[in-house]
Amino acid sequence: MPRIAVAAVIASVLAPLAAAAESLRIVATTSDLATLARAVTGDVAQVETIIPPATDPEAFEPRPSDLARLKGAAVVVRIGLGYDHWLDKLLSMHGDAAVQRGGAGYVDASFGIPLLEVKGSSVDLANQDGHAHGLANPHYWLDPGQAEIITGGIAEAIIRIDPRLTDQIIAGRDNFLARLQTRRTQWEQLLAPYRGARLVAYHNTWPYFARRFRLNIVDVIETKEGVSPSPGRLARLAATILHEPFEPDDAAQLLARRTGAMVVKLAPSVFSVPAASGYAELFDYNVGTLVRALTAPSN
Ligand SMILES: [Zn+2]
Repeated sequence: MPRIAVAAVIASVLAPLAAAAESLRIVATTSDLATLARAVTGDVAQVETIIPPATDPEAFEPRPSDLARLKGAAVVVRIGLGYDHWLDKLLSMHGDAAVQRGGAGYVDASFGIPLLEVKGSSVDLANQDGHAHGLANPHYWLDPGQAEIITGGIAEAIIRIDPRLTDQIIAGRDNFLARLQTRRTQWEQLLAPYRGARLVAYHNTWPYFARRFRLNIVDVIETKEGVSPSPGRLARLAATILHEPFEPDDAAQLLARRTGAMVVKLAPSVFSVPAASGYAELFDYNVGTLVRALTAPSN
């Protein structure tokens, strides 16, 4: 009898472990994609992020531990457009054909997105410096309207890999998108009085966000192709300056002192500031912060 009891205890301890090991593993390059993958999959999948939250994603270099992270991944999700160009090398070292470009578990989330700032295809993505955009502006997740396309690509890959999950994945995605739609209407209403507001950004992160919410990004401070915009020109343009946690803030602060413009810290990604703790929370934070700044008397 005691032997049976021990065996039962062991079995009950091992059962959940075995179930967890069998659950679908999804590896996303960014926190934004990981959050969207979690929103779709709920407890069906285990989702991991490669780029840590407290780093500048466009200056990221993978470490050996990131290769280990790909082990057993059924689905790999990337931003594409050169934003996470280092993933190609990591995937070829990893070697699993199922998650390579063209494989059933490979998701380039930019596929199907109506892109902004599209360039020619001759750009050598692998040899770019951080912060130089490749084929098009890659910050498309900052338009909540694109969540439909991004989650669609993720859902399709999961269903290709395990068709038994079809109903659950479709229901999870529908539920998430319905809740997001309600929030989108609220964000649009909050920003509606500031339609056409003139904003200067440090990095060219915000064109998708600006298009969705009808704001006007008039220039970027960051040096473009070796040429900084002249302070005089920025002084004429500046109204509110958008600044991100990982950017050097001296240029923004200098411009603000010269022009009286206000510097506003926005979150370019989920987890880049503590308040941006999820996909909807990212917009709650950014919309709320921007509305407060644009309402302030000095503007
Ligand atoms: Zn960028």
